[in-house]
Amino acid sequence: MPEGKIIKALSGFYYVESSEGIVTCRGRGNFRNKKITPLVGDHAIYHIEKSGEGYLLEIKDRKNELVRPPIANVDQAILVFSAVEPDFSPVLLDRFLVLIEFNEIKPIIVITKIDLLSEEALKKINAYADYYRQIGYEVLLTSSKTEEGVELVQPMLAKKISVFAGQSGVGKSTLLNALKPNLDLKTGIISSHLGRGKHTTRHVELIEIGEGLVADTPGFSSLDFIDIEVEDLSYCFIEMRERSNACKFRGCTHLAEPKCAIKESIENGEISSDRYEHYKSFIQEIRDRKPRY
Ligand code: GDP
Ligand code: ZN
Repeated sequence: MPEGKIIKALSGFYYVESSEGIVTCRGRGNFRNKKITPLVGDHAIYHIEKSGEGYLLEIKDRKNELVRPPIANVDQAILVFSAVEPDFSPVLLDRFLVLIEFNEIKPIIVITKIDLLSEEALKKINAYADYYRQIGYEVLLTSSKTEEGVELVQPMLAKKISVFAGQSGVGKSTLLNALKPNLDLKTGIISSHLGRGKHTTRHVELIEIGEGLVADTPGFSSLDFIDIEVEDLSYCFIEMRERSNACKFRGCTHLAEPKCAIKESIENGEISSDRYEHYKSFIQEIRDRKPRY
């Protein structure tokens, strides 16, 4: 049976791409294995009825699943932040990182608009970039205007399903256009205003950029810690996660417990106290959250 990846879902049809090309498949309600709604990003087994048309037989197990946009098997989030306009915000970056880590998706940080920076301001941005690199993230500095650094983004997308994320105005669409100049804006370029329009049908499509697939709708548009509990949070901070076994108490929240490896690492300068302050404020936010039921 042929297999492929669903790259577009529209009006009950699923466009499945394989090395043979694209086959338009119907869903047919139930699948052999389970009752699920197929999603863009799903790996599907299908049956061909006639040339270019068929129906889905089975949806393979998913590695993960995003709700907004509805997409399965996301490998990585390209987290776009501007250096200026809007100003770079470390606390907002950490908030996005928590949400992405919570979904077990790999973040890649792209800082845009570096052409607008003075030498002094660029130094500051580089210092931030270095810290995030030091804890294990990839950080790219780009300008879609001068195209500096843009060529570093495309290889990151190869063989992966990526979702772009970041505040509006940071340059996500501009960067995508720089990566794929012939991208047709009207088919739903990565723009939150398009997706929110009254008459637009909510659909997602994966666009091919080089050897990679990118969702045409930005992810992580809701920045609330809705599903995150206090005990989840330190796993969403990469440098805390790595040291979590070193604390004396299992399930240490790194707040008031004695012999806490995280607090020791902050004291000796291995962990940024800024990131720890953000951690504490997120804990407070989760604790202040009204009960959901
Ligand atoms: P989005 O909302 O994240 O998709 O942001 P846009 O791509 O629409 O960009 C917002 C504004 O920033 C637009 O006016 C762009 O021209 C501008 N912009 C985007 N990237 C750059 C850049 O690298 N340098 C400069 N100078 N302006 C940029
Ligand atoms: Zn601890």
